[in-house]
Amino acid sequence: MRAAVITQPKTLQLENLEAPQAGFGQVRVRVGATGVCGTDLHLYEGHFHARLPLVPGHEIAGVVDQVGPGVAGLAEGQVVALDPVIACGQCWACRRGQRQHCLHFEALGVTRAGGFAEYVVAPAQNAYPVRGLSVAEAAFAEPLGCVAWGIQRLRPEPGSQALLFGAGPIGLLLLQALLVSGVTRVVAVDPVPERRELAKRLGAWQALAPGEPVRDLAPHGFDIVAEATGVPAVVESMPAYAAVGGKLLIFGVAPEAARVQLSPYDIFQRDLSLIGSFSLNGTLPVALQWLESGRIQVKPLISHHLPLEALHQALAYKEHPGMGQALKVLIEP
Ligand SMILES: [Zn+2]
Ligand SMILES: [Zn+2]
Repeated sequence: MRAAVITQPKTLQLENLEAPQAGFGQVRVRVGATGVCGTDLHLYEGHFHARLPLVPGHEIAGVVDQVGPGVAGLAEGQVVALDPVIACGQCWACRRGQRQHCLHFEALGVTRAGGFAEYVVAPAQNAYPVRGLSVAEAAFAEPLGCVAWGIQRLRPEPGSQALLFGAGPIGLLLLQALLVSGVTRVVAVDPVPERRELAKRLGAWQALAPGEPVRDLAPHGFDIVAEATGVPAVVESMPAYAAVGGKLLIFGVAPEAARVQLSPYDIFQRDLSLIGSFSLNGTLPVALQWLESGRIQVKPLISHHLPLEALHQALAYKEHPGMGQALKVLIEP
């Protein structure tokens, strides 16, 4: 089978590998679409202590084409979305229900062969049957599952107002997830006019460029201030927009070494909550509910359908946001 392989940091090549076989408790999936994510760029650059060589790609959807022994409830021909997180189920973190922090953490496309290939093998329990969605839409189950985990961490109050920094693919998912989770109005902030336009189409009350005044929109501040930018300066600015009792959600992936200045007194005195959200934790079914019910739209977020050969180009889009008007890029091997 054809597969894109990171052989060493900053080296990606198309290789002909032997197609994997579904072992006990596993299924093999003929990959239909795999989303390109910032994590793929980080792996390509050699971060995350990647074990190379690696076939990246963790936002995977496709069709089951081989069912291993010991698998119940899945059949050949079924369209599935894959949860990439493979947790041991036995360690301290797993026993506390924090699978994404498993002490023996493995993930498709991060530590094991992922979806930038014609076939991928996954534990059967990681494959979720999908109804009424194209594989392209189903490829959003994983990033939207991460958003669903963020929403579970955030616990938005009914009727609240949110300020959201970043209207890239993840920001636009977060925007819609906030709106189906009790938030009444979302103000989105993004420097790219097309992204602001899309944010409004997808339900944002207002979409502003950075620096445009927001005070009048929420004179007492926002109940929720969220970011999907990974930009430290944005994080630093967040408390100033929060209402008393407000919640700050850090969702973007900032550089590991980045530091910001926050006022502990301000967080104390105004009852603010600072909330992180990492990966997904059994929340892929929530994402499928949102997608299958049509409550969350992902088709407008797809900017490119590319073949495996173009993964390089897709990573360049990730490296230079705004390039080629890229939003979500799907690789369709
Ligand atoms: Zn991702
Ligand atoms: Zn574990």
